[in-house]
Amino acid sequence: MTTSAHVKNEFYIVDFDWTLADTDKLNEVFFEIVEQYHAISRNEIVKAREDVQRTGDSFDTAGYVRDRLYDEGRGEEWADLEKRYIHESRALNYLMPGAAELLEWLAAHGKRYGILTYGNPLWQRLKLTAAGFNHVRHIITEQKEKGKFVHSWQRHDESFRIPDALGGGSAESIVMIDDKAVSFDHFPSEPSHGYWVLNPEHELLPQQGTVPANVTRYKNLLELVPEL
Ligand SMILES: [Mg+2]
Repeated sequence: MTTSAHVKNEFYIVDFDWTLADTDKLNEVFFEIVEQYHAISRNEIVKAREDVQRTGDSFDTAGYVRDRLYDEGRGEEWADLEKRYIHESRALNYLMPGAAELLEWLAAHGKRYGILTYGNPLWQRLKLTAAGFNHVRHIITEQKEKGKFVHSWQRHDESFRIPDALGGGSAESIVMIDDKAVSFDHFPSEPSHGYWVLNPEHELLPQQGTVPANVTRYKNLLELVPEL
């Protein structure tokens, strides 16, 4: 059974937005804080975000608000606003259904894992902190095709060199969990495996697409965890 033990040397990559965390809730609380500061109305941010997201890009919500404050000569209020958002978030639970179970499962089985999140560094870092994940190893990438990024870790002998930001070391395979089809573009072949976690009843356009054959779809993390 040395072979299976060998294959078990895997590394888990978990997505943040809409996989671990409820991004709508993270946005809503941020919009509320921004409105309290009389910075920008919620509608104005939502419209700016929709314009960017229509192109398939990720909207830099934090950068948008920060720049507006600076434009109005109120730049010094940004740090305060960030702190307030993180503070208000402390009592809130932003986890998606099954996220707590996934994290417990990873810990209980001694699995190595890290968060790989796509988006603007300022906003992603702020959301990770608000949701309490800033102490989990993570990489913020501005590359939508995470599979391509993961592929770049593969050595000639097919093993993976795990980036230092995710703890370093080697892995024989990668297990990736994400809600967006595009994240799996160029994802490495077996024994690596992907789990596309997306509820067909609540699909957003940027989440849809086609995935490679070694990616299995699940409705939510609650259904996936018992299958890991
Ligand atoms: Mg996501």
